[in-house]
Amino acid sequence: MSGQKRRPLIAGNWKMNGLKIAGGRTLGAVIEGYDAGLRAKADLLVCPPATLVYAFAAAAVGSRVAIGAQTCHPEISGAHTGEIAAEMLADAGASYVIVGHSERRAFNGETDADVRARALAARRAGLTPIVCVGETREERDAGRALEVVGAQLAGSVPDGEGPLVVAYEPVWAIGTGLTPTEADVAEVHAFMRAQLRSRFGAAFADGVRLLYGGSVKPSNAAALLAVEDVDGALVGGASLVAADFLAIAAACPA
Ligand code: PEP
Repeated sequence: MSGQKRRPLIAGNWKMNGLKIAGGRTLGAVIEGYDAGLRAKADLLVCPPATLVYAFAAAAVGSRVAIGAQTCHPEISGAHTGEIAAEMLADAGASYVIVGHSERRAFNGETDADVRARALAARRAGLTPIVCVGETREERDAGRALEVVGAQLAGSVPDGEGPLVVAYEPVWAIGTGLTPTEADVAEVHAFMRAQLRSRFGAAFADGVRLLYGGSVKPSNAAALLAVEDVDGALVGGASLVAADFLAIAAACPA
């Protein structure tokens, strides 16, 4: 059992998609559609490419739509060509940052230690890190999903009781149209809650929002969001279409 009711968070990961004009229109439609009914149901977060964070944060002032980023560097400043510090994202108006997305783990070689350092940097800058974990298809087929998720969680979540969101994103469900069964999602989320409780205690662990991510769409959102210990969604492809993103938020249990 979750022990505590958490306000759902619906977060959009735009990945490397979105230019100023078209992206701005999409954000505008999200802001416009985030009406009182939806605000009563869920928090909304849009994580565009870093180039748009500043403009989006300015556009979202007063709307209650939060703006986040997709990664950050562990250091505050220095000789790290091409990198962006968490403090810079905060300065640009971000309030969240995704860390350890499976695409960064796979294509940028980020380890659990790297992800933990980025999550700590996020906290240092006053941002909430969204720490991503999830098993590959081979790991699930080998019956190792909980072992892999447990190890990533232990290695990637920093010590201390700072701001934290965790996203369970099975790698094989991202961008594929495939999703785990509701029973599998329930098993992993209950496991993550239990792991966090045994490490931090229930008072902290029960307040951490655990998002599910991987091919969430308007058509499957209600079923996934109704699963025990699922406190929202991290949405990739469907977050690029304002109507779909809003429909996913509308699917949160009342
Ligand atoms: C993601 O990349 O975080 C994601 C969940 O993607 P999609 O919704 O497209 O599967």
